[in-house]
Amino acid sequence: MKKKVVVLGDGAWGIAIAWLLSHRSNLEVWIWSARPETAALLCKTRENTRVLPNFRIPETITLTADITQAARDAELLISAIPTVYLRATISRWQNHCPPGTSLLSLTKGVEIETFRRPSEILQELLNPGRIAALSGPSHSEEVIHGLPTSVVIAGPDPTFNQELQDLFACETFRVYTNTDLIGVELAGAQKNVIAIAAGICDGLGFGDNAKAALITRGLEEMARLGVALGAGIETYRGLAGIGDLITTCYSPHGRNRAVGERLGRGEKIEQILASWSKIVEGVTTAQSINQRAQQMGIEMPITHYVDAVLHKNKSPRDAVSELMTRRNRTER
Ligand code: 13P
Repeated sequence: MKKKVVVLGDGAWGIAIAWLLSHRSNLEVWIWSARPETAALLCKTRENTRVLPNFRIPETITLTADITQAARDAELLISAIPTVYLRATISRWQNHCPPGTSLLSLTKGVEIETFRRPSEILQELLNPGRIAALSGPSHSEEVIHGLPTSVVIAGPDPTFNQELQDLFACETFRVYTNTDLIGVELAGAQKNVIAIAAGICDGLGFGDNAKAALITRGLEEMARLGVALGAGIETYRGLAGIGDLITTCYSPHGRNRAVGERLGRGEKIEQILASWSKIVEGVTTAQSINQRAQQMGIEMPITHYVDAVLHKNKSPRDAVSELMTRRNRTER
């Protein structure tokens, strides 16, 4: 009998992951949409033109907005819901998810009100038997074209991590495992903020020197907060840390970098978001992380200035000038 896997969320990453799994002959893959009208449209067109234009979702993937149908006999739930919608959306699954269900989170963010990581929210609402998170440099646009991609799956249970590794691994998708769930999830959220800063550098017309310094110092401050919150420093040297940071800071199709670029060219965030149909996790994450770092007395100057540009009307040029002339100049 086939094992049923349900991806919760019809965004680009949810679709790409469902597509990847749809090649396994022993799996029955479903995508659950939070909105019935989106599910109906996807069933008709088999394409999410907003996030993955020109990509046809294969007929072998079942599309639905019906939780009861989606949840029936599901052995693995994969959450691909953006952080801002995660609590409200997952709450709808509470009476449909038998205790002990296995869960994998793909979300890269932290809840603004509580500073909870996505897996903590899933744990709190669904009480799963086993939980893990998948992260790393993995643009969906590349995954769906079969371009080589490597990710990390992290969770407290090494056996579950290994099962998931076996489930996902193929010639174009290499999966590492890690037990540092805190580090993998935090790094995945934090890199989006540094990616906005990288975009600001691009928008201001800076060069390779600035980008390299930003990535180096960005990683340093990400790790500083992460370690204080219980993450392992090694995780920041891995795929969820430096790996994803490189991809997100350089990629032409990166959402966070693209928003930063427009900020650097002088647009305001409200203006950018009004013309933008995709979720940009770094915009809210900058605020959450800056607040938490301040409460903990941890220096995160880049995050601080990204938050100031986004939410406190600071000009990108002034932010760069203040960062360049900060008094603290010790490397560690
Ligand atoms: P961006 O779209 O901002 O690059 O984020 C996607 C991602 O996390 C790729 O690993």
